Amino acid sequence: MFKSTESYFQGRMAILATKHGKEQVIAPALARLGVTVVVASDFDSDRFGTFSREIPRCGTQEEAALAKAEAVLAQTGADLVIASEGSFGPHPQFPMLPSDRELILLVDRRHDLVLRGEVLSLDTNFSHATVSHLEEALAFGARVGFPSHGLIAMAQADPLPNTPIFKGIQSEEQLQRAIATLQTNHATLHLETDMRAHMNPTRMRVIAQAAAELVQAMAQGCPQCGWPGFVACEHLPGLPCELCGAPTGAIKASRYLCQHCLYELTVPVPETVADPSQCYFCNP
Ligand SMILES: [Zn+2]
Ligand SMILES: [Zn+2]
Repeated sequence: MFKSTESYFQGRMAILATKHGKEQVIAPALARLGVTVVVASDFDSDRFGTFSREIPRCGTQEEAALAKAEAVLAQTGADLVIASEGSFGPHPQFPMLPSDRELILLVDRRHDLVLRGEVLSLDTNFSHATVSHLEEALAFGARVGFPSHGLIAMAQADPLPNTPIFKGIQSEEQLQRAIATLQTNHATLHLETDMRAHMNPTRMRVIAQAAAELVQAMAQGCPQCGWPGFVACEHLPGLPCELCGAPTGAIKASRYLCQHCLYELTVPVPETVADPSQCYFCNP
């Protein structure tokens, strides 16, 4: 049902605004559409905000990603830029569980186009702890995938200016040294997971999923005008129960909308009935 978008992207070069190794998963995804990804040289994404809080992030996740993309466009004169931004916190539906929301934006100046890939995942090690000695620190590390996943150590959760912050801790020796330095003035110290992509393979996997979403948006052209980004904007529940025929919470169709010509299409799912386990009446 989708038109090909090959003429939009094939053979182009996209600049990626990152210094944290995200090209490892973003470049192979974009290569499937014939786009070569190049990392922006000298681009300091940290001035747009860091997870380890020396620099607070401005605005929403979307605004932060757009600001990065705009900066690279201005700096390099490129016409195709990718920016990515992660956000960690309680899951909106399951507030007891931490989640990772990864957003990847593609800004195409040649076609005046912004496309996105976004994933909300419960697969994250995002966590922190207050510890008073190495054994406690190692116990926390064991819970969050250390040492394949990096840690950050500081004197307290809200560190005073000009106090040391140890980032990218990836060995017991580094952890021991950080603790020894921080404990000269404090009995306890604050440990947290290093969420930067190159320090966090779990996060890197979620970024890969978001990149796959972006590639899907890029590849799906509007059936009417061919514009890329013809993706489902709404999922409609109400697939009838196989036993009693009542509408269930299961998706019965998805609504697609073209951002360019506003062409709309509702596509039913292949199934015609829902399992009774999803029925409010048969399985209350
Ligand atoms: Zn039923
Ligand atoms: Zn269209």
